[in-house]
Amino acid sequence: MGTPLEYAPAPESRGVVHLQSSYGLFVDGEFVDPVDGGGFKTLNPADEEVLTEVAEAGPADVERAVAAARKAYVRTWSKLSGRDRGKYLFRIARLIQERSRELAVLETLDNGKPIRESRDVDVPLAAAHFFYHAGWADKLSHAGYGSDPQPLGVAGQVIPWNFPLLMLAWKVAPALATGNTVVLKPAETTPLTALLFAEICQQADLPPGVVNILTGAGATGAALVAHPGVDKVAFTGSTEVGRSIARATAGTSKKVTLELGGKAANIVFDDAPVDEAVEGIVNGIFFNQGHVCCAGSRLLVQESVADDVVTKLQRRIATLRVGDPMDKNTDVGAINSAEQLDRIRAFADVGDDEGARRWTAPGRLPERGYWFPPTVFTGVQQAHRIAREEIFGPVLSVLTFRTPTEAIAKANNTPYGLSAGVWTDKGSRILWAAQRLRAGVVWANTFNRFDPASPFGGYKESGWGREGGRHGLEAYLDV
Ligand code: NDP
Repeated sequence: MGTPLEYAPAPESRGVVHLQSSYGLFVDGEFVDPVDGGGFKTLNPADEEVLTEVAEAGPADVERAVAAARKAYVRTWSKLSGRDRGKYLFRIARLIQERSRELAVLETLDNGKPIRESRDVDVPLAAAHFFYHAGWADKLSHAGYGSDPQPLGVAGQVIPWNFPLLMLAWKVAPALATGNTVVLKPAETTPLTALLFAEICQQADLPPGVVNILTGAGATGAALVAHPGVDKVAFTGSTEVGRSIARATAGTSKKVTLELGGKAANIVFDDAPVDEAVEGIVNGIFFNQGHVCCAGSRLLVQESVADDVVTKLQRRIATLRVGDPMDKNTDVGAINSAEQLDRIRAFADVGDDEGARRWTAPGRLPERGYWFPPTVFTGVQQAHRIAREEIFGPVLSVLTFRTPTEAIAKANNTPYGLSAGVWTDKGSRILWAAQRLRAGVVWANTFNRFDPASPFGGYKESGWGREGGRHGLEAYLDV
């Protein structure tokens, strides 16, 4: 069994981040106190240190932010040419690049993800989304939605804690490029990069009210999506909350996109290059501690190679470095919150009770903070809850299959349909499988690849609509 290599610690400096003792809401271009004065603390999940306190927006703040967004929409943003909107988006993209270290450090402190991921994935992709959509702003008449597609108005956007800045970029960039204004609510446990983004909007001289950021909890999100002044709702998060948003917006003229949960099958055929597949499986489920809606959380491996794949997988997982997210050597960071840790532990206990075999990566976890070791369950049956429900943590369920047809049937046997992976040596088998998998994205001999030009979204309970690419523009246009 492998063991982690010895490395000298390589901590990233947090000196680049200057945290204030408290933050207000960002409304109409300024930081303001909430009307009722409430607030909550945000923690570093790696050591439970209180980072700062942020304001909690109540209904009166939602009212104020939606009014500011409406005013900005009517008076400035909808009147600008696409070319001018594009200039602001390019400016924001460049500022994200300029302040990338600060954003990466802040994301890692607030979320618990490894600095290597926030630095190399989250922040560059967030900038890429702004660059990509900046390019669309003056070309919307060539997007296939008519010669003069119009924006919808005010977008109310609610995002989760797993990719705070990146989900913000997925929401804000297409909204602004298409001429809409925004009120965005970040997740309760990860508000800090959204607040730094508000500063970036000020730095970019974005007209006041075009972007408004309301920190708060679920109630703030619920008030925002229900507000009659919101024309478009965009949500990423759990299927349960997605359902409540669908109910709250049913019968209204609001256009809604929902990006919800997943339980992706990562299928390894017997002709797959095993070492590469193992890297892909590890990336599929342990990237971002498995807090990924499209995580490859169900490994479907052909029976004839299952023992070999699982042995090599466990050997590889044993070399992952779990610990201080600010250390540049770290592969797996902290679980985002105590609640999420409880949920993962409960699911793992269910796996034990259902009769699956639990294997846990060796090694000690830090004493403070929220931690869960990389875990693999073998002997998992389709009926098991750990094969059906989204765990949203570093827990892989391994199932086997004998024929390609059985693999597809098992992969599609889920209420979700966000993503899937296929590992095989044969191009024809990739195409055969991709045509049959009911998933919004199918990765072949790779996993968890994202690009702003590529639409992303789900079938069935994984959501409605697409984000990214030309298709993603439609969600923000009156077509
Ligand atoms: P939620 O779906 O509750 O959170 C997503 C966002 O919605 C947050 O900003 C949240 O605010 C907000 N919100 C909560 N309730 C409402 C509401 N009624 N109306 C409008 N907005 C609301 O996810 P959780 O953080 O509670 O995570 C629970 C589970 O959801 C996870 O264990 C995971 O399985 C799944 N999940 C899936 C994600 C995905 O991308 N597929 C992302 C996140 C979670 P607040 O943060 O204050 O609660």
